[in-house]
Formats: sequence, structure tokens, C-alpha cells
Amino acid sequence: MDKVSVFTRNMDSLGRLVIPIYLRNYLKIGIGDSIEVFTYSEGIMLRKYKMNSCVFCESMDQVQYFKSQFVCGGCRNNLAGKRSS
Ligand SMILES: [Zn+2]
Repeated sequence: MDKVSVFTRNMDSLGRLVIPIYLRNYLKIGIGDSIEVFTYSEGIMLRKYKMNSCVFCESMDQVQYFKSQFVCGGCRNNLAGKRSS
């Protein structure tokens, strides 16, 4: 997690919270996007759901799991110093 953003919102009677637009824009969360909810002993964490997409470019081409992240074939080549043809 690069930055920490803290804000306070009141929950409505249906348990809904509004995530501020500047934060949704920053995190590239749009209408209809799926959100993952992680629970911890001290609270919850929300994250945009990305199904097996590359952590760097969001491609789903030749994705492999590496150190708790998904990395596509092109980015693996770039990380290894190989040029894509
Ligand atoms: Zn990639």
C-alpha cells in the first residue's frame, strides 16, 4: 500500500457507505466495478477486484503468480531486461 487515505463517512440504514469521488478516481474504481472486502480483527479493507490481471499493466496475457502478485508475460520480459518483439 503506497499511500494512506483516511476519511469519515456515516453509514446509512442499509449499511451503505459512499467512497469519495476523488478516491474512486484515484483508484480507478468505476460504476459496476466489483470490490473485494477483506476482514481483519480491527476492521475491513476494500480493494478493486482484479481477476488474475497483471499488477503492472492489468493485462491477462500469460499471467503467472509471483510473490503474491500476478505478472503478465510482457512485464516479466521487461523485468528480465528482454525486449518484446
Ligand atoms: Zn503486465
